[in-house]
Amino acid sequence: MARNTGPVCKLCRRESMKLFLKGDRCLTDKCSFDRRPYPPGQHGQRRGKASEYARHLREKQKARRIYGVFERQFSNYFEKADRLKGVTGENLLGMLERRVDNVVFKMGFALTRRAGRQMVRHNHVLVNGRRVNVPSYLLKAGDEVSIKEPSRKIASIQSSLESRERLGFASWIEVDTKNFKGVLKAIPAVKDLQLPIEEQLIVEFYSR
Ligand code: SF4
Repeated sequence: MARNTGPVCKLCRRESMKLFLKGDRCLTDKCSFDRRPYPPGQHGQRRGKASEYARHLREKQKARRIYGVFERQFSNYFEKADRLKGVTGENLLGMLERRVDNVVFKMGFALTRRAGRQMVRHNHVLVNGRRVNVPSYLLKAGDEVSIKEPSRKIASIQSSLESRERLGFASWIEVDTKNFKGVLKAIPAVKDLQLPIEEQLIVEFYSR
């Protein structure tokens, strides 16, 4: 499946909730979902009650869209999560949360996960001092993520970091804003993520 290159805001409208995919814009009155809080398309405002299958599907799509992951990649994550010890849904979200593009976003080096992915691809990011340019690279607890010295002058990285600093960082992340680096202290528990996702419905989707 090709990457979605269409309007990002349509994804929020399709999931009937704000997914915060556009950074600061999501908090302004320019947010499309605030203006048109119904699914896109000719029949968007006329949809009836969702079936069980549709509920499961929407939950899976919501998680996929929040983390910006391909369909195939997402089902691979699910298979891996299912093989691990513990609760499959929690393993799945834990794995998505450990992606380096997500951690770059959570550390405030990028305004969105999408921007975080681009930063990783464009070689601005180091993990434990070594270049990593694969956005799906999975971090371990204790790994250090930093921005390459020359890239620290990029205005968008500086402004993103300032705005994240004002909002505060997640408790499982420690960021040294002066030196543009941070540590993933632990893999977060699902309850700490405060995501609008019912991971059990995703498990049920793949268990049909
Ligand atoms: Fe979603 Fe609104 Fe942000 Fe667009 S601006 S991505 S609709 S939350």
